Amino acid sequence: MGNIQQLDEFLANKIAAGEVVERPASVVKELMENAIDAHSTIIEIDLTEAGLSKIRIKDNGDGILEEDLLKAFSRHATSKIKNEHDLFRIKTLGFRGEALPSIASVAKVEITSSTGDQGTKAVIHGGKLISREASAARKGTDIKVEELFYNTPARLKYMKTINTELGNISDIVNRLALSHPEISIRLIHNGKTLLHTNGQGDVRQVLSAIYGMQTVKKMIPFEGESLDFKISGWAAYPEVTRASKSYISLLVNGRYIKNYGLTQAVLEGYRTLLPIGRFPVILLSVEMDPLLVDVNVHPSKQEVRFSKEKELQHVIGETLKRSFRNETLIPSGVSEKKEPKKVSEQTSFDWKVQAAKPTNSYKESETVKETSAEMTDVKAPEEQLFDERAATGPVPASPEITGPEKTAEPERKRMPDMSVIGQAHGTYIICQSEDGVYMIDQHAAQERIKYEYFREKLAEDHHEMQDLLVPITFDFPPDQFLRIKEDIDLLYQSGIEAEEFGGNSLIVRSHPVWFPKGEESGIIEDMIEQILTEKKIDRYKLREEAAILMSCKKSIKANHYLTQNDMESLISQLSECNDPFTCPHGRPVVIHFSSYEMEKMFKRVM
Ligand code: ADP
Ligand code: MG
Repeated sequence: MGNIQQLDEFLANKIAAGEVVERPASVVKELMENAIDAHSTIIEIDLTEAGLSKIRIKDNGDGILEEDLLKAFSRHATSKIKNEHDLFRIKTLGFRGEALPSIASVAKVEITSSTGDQGTKAVIHGGKLISREASAARKGTDIKVEELFYNTPARLKYMKTINTELGNISDIVNRLALSHPEISIRLIHNGKTLLHTNGQGDVRQVLSAIYGMQTVKKMIPFEGESLDFKISGWAAYPEVTRASKSYISLLVNGRYIKNYGLTQAVLEGYRTLLPIGRFPVILLSVEMDPLLVDVNVHPSKQEVRFSKEKELQHVIGETLKRSFRNETLIPSGVSEKKEPKKVSEQTSFDWKVQAAKPTNSYKESETVKETSAEMTDVKAPEEQLFDERAATGPVPASPEITGPEKTAEPERKRMPDMSVIGQAHGTYIICQSEDGVYMIDQHAAQERIKYEYFREKLAEDHHEMQDLLVPITFDFPPDQFLRIKEDIDLLYQSGIEAEEFGGNSLIVRSHPVWFPKGEESGIIEDMIEQILTEKKIDRYKLREEAAILMSCKKSIKANHYLTQNDMESLISQLSECNDPFTCPHGRPVVIHFSSYEMEKMFKRVM
């Protein structure tokens, strides 16, 4: 007998579980996806100890036929695809038939399911069937996963703190809720409701349940399309920023995904509007022919590959830029009443817990304390039968969320009309309009003006070449030099005349006219860096960076006193800008104190 033998099914499932079931959040994800695929309209996720001791998911979906129940726990058993043809047109969230057997092989599972007639209950521990019996016939599925990883101690050790695991679960549930506003989703942890969406199909209600009203009020809808793609969603004003990218939610054909290229495209849309190191809050949904996207890249089905990714990135970037171009984006100088810590980053988990409030209480004044008081009233999950919910009716719809509405009107002047009053600290220009007082950072304003000026100018001139008085030489390590030589055409195409200069050196004799004086060698180094890392030169990006550099150098600094004329001309130039509200590094240029806010501050109104 040879040495190679087929693994038995137990072992094969346990190995597969390593990829499919990494942590409690993966179990929640797989089970929720199953409930969604089964056309549920209500899903309840009830956790104990961040799912490490118990995850229970109840749905009111199609249910599983008695004769299918055990089959669903065998490997590669699925009702969702039948042949190869289906694999390229996947509409369901699951299709690999791996989740149930994988989960059951590393935990103690109890499942009750019914298609409406007779129900069945099965208990499976570590992949072994313990019992099976008839049960009640509530249509839907109720699955309990206890003692996750009890038989894979190495995996258990790898788990982080309860808060981290719960944070991961929250993240998954939030994203699934965002992609399915038509399903009422409730997340309960140790008896407390952390999220509850009303299932009425209104994505703003879901956004509000997750991020809070204040944030949602500052989100605008956007829409765009190209030949192959249709995109839409809600994007927060650039003034609403976060310290991590995890507030960027991407959906492709209703499936939430992670994708570097798309995230970059979103950031491109916000370019020069966000400070460095800060990220937006946005929900982006892409509709496309399923043939153009491959979701079968990893067992977790979160990574996807696109054909025509460049085209898609372009629509995203351009649509976002266009949407903001129609908005006046001046932050208020008065800090708003803080939402219960939701906006704080350091404790990225905390806000999720505090986001916990029943969706029907939208009062802005609601405080954490009130919320948690309400929470103590939450009944034990066992009591919250779906039937009871049906009796009390669905979660009431949210009151009208007011906020920026979609505007179809053409581009308008974005800066309000204002007149200059004076200057403070040689740094800020103070203006007024009918609607209050504005403070303008003169340095930031001028950076923005110069940046837009140079960007336009650089775009015009790029065909003309100019000789260097003194040619510049560049030395490279041998391996890099070989790679640069291979792609030296790219330099020519970008207007750089470069040739070998003995050893591992290049000599550059001329460059495009648009290069700012004194920055030539820096820009050429950037180009070579792009060739080495991306095998292409992005002239647009280089020009942008050069424009930022030039604008920064040539702008008036703080502590510089300006005459009335200087100030008036600065404000008028600023109002001509495409994006007058931030400097090219994303810092604010203008801050607004509305008349109402001022009256409130001075207690003239209550
Ligand atoms: P997949 O989702 O990839 O098909 P799973 O292992 O997650 O594989 O599930 C196996 C099968 O069990 C599914 O194809 C589906 O038919 C059935 N199933 C699982 N969960 C549910 C549920 N909550 N409601 C109805 N059917 C379910
Ligand atoms: Mg599945």
